Amino acid sequence: MMKGQYCIGFDLGGTKMIAALVDDEGRIVARSRAKTPGEEGPDAVAGAMAETVRDACAQAGVDVTAVVAVGAAVPGIIDPARGTVTLTNLNLTDFPLRDNLERALGVKVVLENDVNAGTWAEYKAGAAKGLRHIVGVFVGTGIGGGLVLDGKLYRGSRGSAGEIGHMVVMEGGPLCGCGRYGCLEAFASRTAMAKDAVALAAAGRLPELVEKTGTDFKKFKSSVFERGLDLGNPLITSIIDRAAYHLGIGLAGVANLLNPEAFVLGGGFADRLRAGYLEKVKTTMRAQAMGGVGEGIKVLIGELGDDAVPLGAALLAREAAEA
Ligand SMILES: [Zn+2]
Repeated sequence: MMKGQYCIGFDLGGTKMIAALVDDEGRIVARSRAKTPGEEGPDAVAGAMAETVRDACAQAGVDVTAVVAVGAAVPGIIDPARGTVTLTNLNLTDFPLRDNLERALGVKVVLENDVNAGTWAEYKAGAAKGLRHIVGVFVGTGIGGGLVLDGKLYRGSRGSAGEIGHMVVMEGGPLCGCGRYGCLEAFASRTAMAKDAVALAAAGRLPELVEKTGTDFKKFKSSVFERGLDLGNPLITSIIDRAAYHLGIGLAGVANLLNPEAFVLGGGFADRLRAGYLEKVKTTMRAQAMGGVGEGIKVLIGELGDDAVPLGAALLAREAAEA
């Protein structure tokens, strides 16, 4: 990419969207955020995306014609040949997002899964810089995974590789959002942890933590767990511990299969759960992986937080534009 040229990295989420303008040295120079108008249908979503891209450019005083490519990271399944996306949480099925955005912006658009993009950013510019075999694990509403194997993003035969959250860790375990039972996500996602905390709150066992939230599940965000840690609340600590244990079990299976150099826990939530969580994930993974396999594998906290997904999308778009 030449001096004075830019890429856009776009993070399309279920409730909000972020466009990041990235310069020729891979730095984010402007960000624009907007609500995702999921209720208003696919064309409204695509329209809002184009508008958010233009706004990020305007903030930096950059003309859209200086943008060589837009990387759009989405939380779902992509058909790279047809440029379509299927995003169940936004009710989009086989929606031709690439053509739609290219028409609106007049710029090449590259689609990518959001966790793949976040993992790529941590590999190129974050916690895993300098390594060649890493597994990105993004814990949030669900648990997503991204694979960089031998320095390349691994997408699998049809693009769905890395769905760590839906590995079954207990047959007949709790119901998962995917409709099956006992997936890792049903034990160790923020959603699963919040469900446990709400059950305790409803039983009157977390009085000092629920003054603001009551027992409203939607209000049980990271801050509730951080506050619980601040107060040394043993019930919150045990919820975090249990989630970390199950995540460690899941990662042990991945360690056996792929023998990575590191797991990178990205996206911010793992960081907010602090050192005890990381330690528990690591010791469980190492204890459960086949003899000695886990010993050399690092478990790192991502360095890029919310910037990982848009930055990774921009870097991938740039590579595609230069290829
Ligand atoms: Zn599942």
